[in-house]
Amino acid sequence: MEILVQKFGGTSVSSAERRKLVANKILMAKQKGYNPVIVVSAMGRKGEPYATDTLLSLLEDKFKEQNLLSTDLLISCGEVISAVIMCNELTKLGINCIPLTGGQAGVITDDKFSSANLIKVNTDRLHSIISQGKVPVIAGFQGITEDGYVTTLGRGGSDVSASIIGVALNATSIEIYTDVDGIMTADPRIVPKASLIKEMSYSEVFQFADQGAKVIHPRAVELAMKANIPLVIKNTMSNSIGTVINNEEEYTSSNIITGITHLADRIQITVSLNDNSQNSNYYSLLNILANNEISIDLINVFPSQKIFTIDKGDLQSFNLVMNSFEIKYICIKDCSKIAIIGSRMRGIPGVMAKILNSLSKENIEILQTADSHNTIWCLVRSENTEKAINALHKEFNLG
Ligand code: ADP
Ligand code: MG
Repeated sequence: MEILVQKFGGTSVSSAERRKLVANKILMAKQKGYNPVIVVSAMGRKGEPYATDTLLSLLEDKFKEQNLLSTDLLISCGEVISAVIMCNELTKLGINCIPLTGGQAGVITDDKFSSANLIKVNTDRLHSIISQGKVPVIAGFQGITEDGYVTTLGRGGSDVSASIIGVALNATSIEIYTDVDGIMTADPRIVPKASLIKEMSYSEVFQFADQGAKVIHPRAVELAMKANIPLVIKNTMSNSIGTVINNEEEYTSSNIITGITHLADRIQITVSLNDNSQNSNYYSLLNILANNEISIDLINVFPSQKIFTIDKGDLQSFNLVMNSFEIKYICIKDCSKIAIIGSRMRGIPGVMAKILNSLSKENIEILQTADSHNTIWCLVRSENTEKAINALHKEFNLG
């Protein structure tokens, strides 16, 4: 029988009412003749008792920074609780199931606590549970090192768990259930008129995910793509068909733009030759940053200045590096990098012009732009993010 991996996110398992809907999706999969394998996130969001952020708030910051192994063990509990409670719900429907930690499910990682990398999956236990006709309910977001320490996979890691398990079991398909109908033309919290994208290619979804659409983790897309296993994003709370993601590059849609997303918390840095004329470090700036593991993007190098952006979270270490090499710079804090994505924009003239026009009509200052074969980026001040996304969404008739 074919294996179907179904992953349910934090909002899907947050209340008793929603867990009933989840149980029904699993029952339906069984009735269709699949062997469902379930991956769950921790229940709810920050503030709710068993959510990851709530567990994290139980520890002091200094302890967390210096004790990643302990922190991982604590936050792995959220998914474990969720897996057992989901089994309670499934049992009520007569579904025979077994809750498992990531480690028990055979997910072996390295010891990079808080963002561990997969080494392998020992599938023996999962295969044995499935062959007995039982449903494994696996705690997402976690694995175990070869010497038995619990690890976590980083934010959004349950999506990654779903792909890891799906690939290891050679599943027919991996379904990611969440609180929206699928991947939309923009975050529906920002653009209420955003519409569902019914089909997408892995590469487009990867771009969406990598550029801030948190509906799926980019690593999960990458893993499914390598194994050529279809991913489907669906809503736990509705019967919408969702977004089907596979290798298909041919679409029925004729839109040049598929959708718009953004990365918040960017800082624009400008380093001028004028301010650093006596400092030879100016010329090796990009190497210095790379050697200090500070990642930068939207890089524009001109004869007299270098402009790029960094993540807000890197500002402290960026400052330290710049000070130690005595490089002067100016910055604009609180920027958003808006990504306008569409694999059909390749070779079509005028897309950038259209974007610039629509933003300037709204008096939105554009701090920087960049483009690739399937994406155009615009850096704007954070306060303009929502206005800019809505204007672009309208300009390209995505609603
Ligand atoms: P889960 O708890 O199920 O993992 P997430 O909060 O991680 O859910 O992801 C779902 C959220 O992603 C949605 O509620 C939505 O606000 C957000 N999102 C951002 N961009 C998009 C997009 N383009 N399409 C759909 N959802 C998006
Ligand atoms: Mg998520």
